[in-house]
Amino acid sequence: MTILILAILIGLPVYGGLCLIQPTKACRRCGGWGSKPGRRRRSPRRHCARCDGTGRRFRVPARIAHRIRGAMRRHATLTARAAARAAEAGRAAAPRSETR
Ligand SMILES: [Zn+2]
Repeated sequence: MTILILAILIGLPVYGGLCLIQPTKACRRCGGWGSKPGRRRRSPRRHCARCDGTGRRFRVPARIAHRIRGAMRRHATLTARAAARAAEAGRAAAPRSETR
């Protein structure tokens, strides 16, 4: 059991580093070919839908990191836009209150 925990403790940073260095890996469905043999014999090779013909697949942590980064960027732009709108509304309301 302790060996298992040790293996996980050592394996996780190694895997994380690997995901940073090489975020993609060969598609497991087509073996990095981008296409796979047809269902029947002598039928043409078919486009791999899993990797969309690229033969590369992003590793799971890389995909999660990309999703989090995208969500953070979206949140940042939306909050900036909301702040700008609030400032615009405040500026529009201020002169009216001064004139009255
Ligand atoms: Zn594939």
